Amino acid sequence: QVGFGAEVEASRGCPYNCSFCAKIDFRDAYRRRNHEAVVAEIDRLIAQGVGYIYFIDEIFLPQKALLEALVDRDVKFGVQTRIDLWKPELLELLGAAGCVSIEAGLESLTVEGRAMLAKRCRLGTEELAALLVDARRHVPFVQANLIGVVEDDPALVEHWRTHLIDHGVWANEPVPLYPYPSSPSYRELWGEPDDLAWERAHDHYLASFQKFSDIQERRPRPLAELEATCCGH
Ligand code: SF4
Repeated sequence: QVGFGAEVEASRGCPYNCSFCAKIDFRDAYRRRNHEAVVAEIDRLIAQGVGYIYFIDEIFLPQKALLEALVDRDVKFGVQTRIDLWKPELLELLGAAGCVSIEAGLESLTVEGRAMLAKRCRLGTEELAALLVDARRHVPFVQANLIGVVEDDPALVEHWRTHLIDHGVWANEPVPLYPYPSSPSYRELWGEPDDLAWERAHDHYLASFQKFSDIQERRPRPLAELEATCCGH
């Protein structure tokens, strides 16, 4: 019995500016909450029967003080982060703190692909893969998110995907890039979003790709069609 689940924010925003990320407007500037306030909130949640926390931070940066505080508390948690920002000893601390799930946006399995997505990642694919495998030694579920990039050679992608999966790290088949209205990609294609921004982004996504995800068999419907069925116009 894990207890109730709850969401907590230790920080919001992100100092990076990846081209595909829906970050402009509200998830942009990185700001961190006061450490004591976060820990007090977690203690109140635990007292209310919470046994699992999901940190909804856009990017859960390594914060030694928070991780050390969590080691002493009976609570599990999940995070989304960038694996390139973690050192092996901090990954060990992350596991000891109770982390049971890491979603790491790797996006592309090549240096060129990551550069195309403006990922500003300083590590090579081999080092990233080693960190993910290391993380998996301490955390039971580790996922490397992948986005389809034309720069990526399919054979190379398959090689690294297989390597990660063989070492217990889940790596999805690369998914197509969705130009969220709040992303730098959208602004580059169409400028500032207007009232039809989501319809435009969605149409572009449907027109650009035939296959969407290895866990989604059916083709998504156009937004206008979905809106017509619920709003009567
Ligand atoms: S994808 Fe992740 S690292 Fe990149 S800007 Fe968005 S939150 Fe930050």
